Amino acid sequence: MGICQVRLLPSFLNTAGKHELSDLIRYLFEEAPEDELSELFAFAVELNRENYGGRVFFRGLIEFSSFCKNDCYYCGIGRSNVNAVRYRLSEEQILDCCRKGYALGFRSFVLQSGEDGYYTDDAACRIVSGIKELFPDCAVTLSIGERSYDSYRMFFDAGADRYLLRHETADEAHYSSLHPPGQTLKKRKLCLYKLKEIGYQVGAGFMVGSPYQTCETLAEDMIFLRGLQPHMAGIGPFIPHSDTRFAGFSSPPSKMTLILLSLTRCLLPKVLMPATTALATADKRGRAKGLSAGANVVMPCLTPRDRRRDYSLYDNKLCTGGEAAEGLSDLRRQIEELGLKPDLSRGDHADFTDRAEMADTPAFSGAEQKRSNDYGKHE
Ligand code: SF4
Repeated sequence: MGICQVRLLPSFLNTAGKHELSDLIRYLFEEAPEDELSELFAFAVELNRENYGGRVFFRGLIEFSSFCKNDCYYCGIGRSNVNAVRYRLSEEQILDCCRKGYALGFRSFVLQSGEDGYYTDDAACRIVSGIKELFPDCAVTLSIGERSYDSYRMFFDAGADRYLLRHETADEAHYSSLHPPGQTLKKRKLCLYKLKEIGYQVGAGFMVGSPYQTCETLAEDMIFLRGLQPHMAGIGPFIPHSDTRFAGFSSPPSKMTLILLSLTRCLLPKVLMPATTALATADKRGRAKGLSAGANVVMPCLTPRDRRRDYSLYDNKLCTGGEAAEGLSDLRRQIEELGLKPDLSRGDHADFTDRAEMADTPAFSGAEQKRSNDYGKHE
């Protein structure tokens, strides 16, 4: 591919058809020599430098319910898993997670759950507006699944800034092989377009190496992202859960996820893209590798410690060290060692912020570092 060709990737990815894209993905997975992949990863990091000054944004993740009405075949908390431990956080407990996160310096919270009707639209609005009242300087991201246009509109009006809803695969047949009949790709896509229309910063994304995935279905993921133009993209490896029908499948080599992260950065240079906990779980150095391949977000967990293991989407999910809020100072150090800049601000997409605001980002102070070290002791 060579350095010149790497620089041509953004325009190629923006115009190529499905066959050309799948050929490129296949080549990168199967044939590309290490030095070409290194060039690709370095170029992806350069694009993050151009658009965000090499910043890595922190989000405090609050997994507030492990109940779900759905039954995605790959997921450990799908409704049919009788072994899953179910919990819900009260509204006050959720606010308390935010209070702890705010004290640590977080200015961006992600509220994630299964699709749990216990949290009605009114309850979700109360939670969002409660956080906004307490912390008007913080961004709130919801990741609570498929709801109606009116519900999404209510959450937005209550103050939600962003919405994450991975599409998981943009290929109809592949989607059907990962989900039961009631769950459709059409509905998932429609939700994502509705969210954009309302004005959210929207996140889509997919698993890498999920059962029955091919280079062709990945090409469709690229084409879908190209059309949707999401502000965020969650791309992490498939990791099997022992209580699911996919227990016998294995995770892909990390290289595949890194290639897809880099390609997505080339396709959507301003995208906010986490180095996922799944990548860190599948590969001890996964977080650093992801950040060195174009990812620019980390999402340490603010979920109460006694509940973290129960939000078990896949086996052996990490919930300590850099994946936990208590490990904040270590995580910051790791990011700096990569030549990147930890950033605890709201971390909006570049089209939703101005650069002056980003330049004013408060430094990660010594006091915050101390609070980070103390955090685990007070839970
Ligand atoms: S992936 Fe999400 S929607 Fe599907 S079963 Fe798991 S928690 Fe529910």
